[in-house]
Amino acid sequence: MQIVPGIHRIGDEGLVNSYLVEESGEITIVDAGLAGLYRELPKELASLSRTLDDVRALVLTHGHGDHIGYAERLRTQRHIPVSVHEDDAALARGEVPNPAKGTGKTKLGPFGGFLWYSLLRGGLRTKHLAAVSTFGDGATLKVPGAPRVILTPGHTPGSAVLHFASKDALLVGDAFATYAVTTGERGPRVAPFTANASQAIESLARIEDIDVSILLPGHGDPFTGSPAEAEKLVRERR
Ligand SMILES: [Zn+2]
Repeated sequence: MQIVPGIHRIGDEGLVNSYLVEESGEITIVDAGLAGLYRELPKELASLSRTLDDVRALVLTHGHGDHIGYAERLRTQRHIPVSVHEDDAALARGEVPNPAKGTGKTKLGPFGGFLWYSLLRGGLRTKHLAAVSTFGDGATLKVPGAPRVILTPGHTPGSAVLHFASKDALLVGDAFATYAVTTGERGPRVAPFTANASQAIESLARIEDIDVSILLPGHGDPFTGSPAEAEKLVRERR
């Protein structure tokens, strides 16, 4: 589905999001969600009048399993380069355990729904990346849309926000979420499975002054307030 002109989302339910960013006929994918979302990719590309041949890069906001879903398949079958912040590369390769401790509070209905959704989309057969390129804080990536990287550690050590200035959008990954898959609560909040919540909140100061009109999280629907408003809501809901 189209979110704004030039940005589409796979994962129509908004539970686990994978974004397509189109610039001059070429596509950057941001986050690969769950493995099973791959089957929705051709249809979504077609809605942009594009095909898999137009995909130039996959950029990961962080190394969690529900963001790398179909990444290894895209890399090995389509030879599309995959990149992640250097501090999350080992996580994306499966060389270190997920730094998140426990799930936090859960509600059976919403969390069960999320687990079932994940199960149906291959959440249990996620392949780690055998190889992944890395980038650093402040880099402007040489991929369609030329996003600038803002490191926002806390959810994971290498969590990064991507600023697509030409789209007036921030793709925030799990720097914060607008839907808690564990409880079903909506609105900007610390994402479930965050390794260091205090650090994650402090990191939002790094995006608060960026002038954009839409923030797109890894879980949940778009937030159309400012980054500073999102930060305020996340702090209040802590
Ligand atoms: Zn995550």
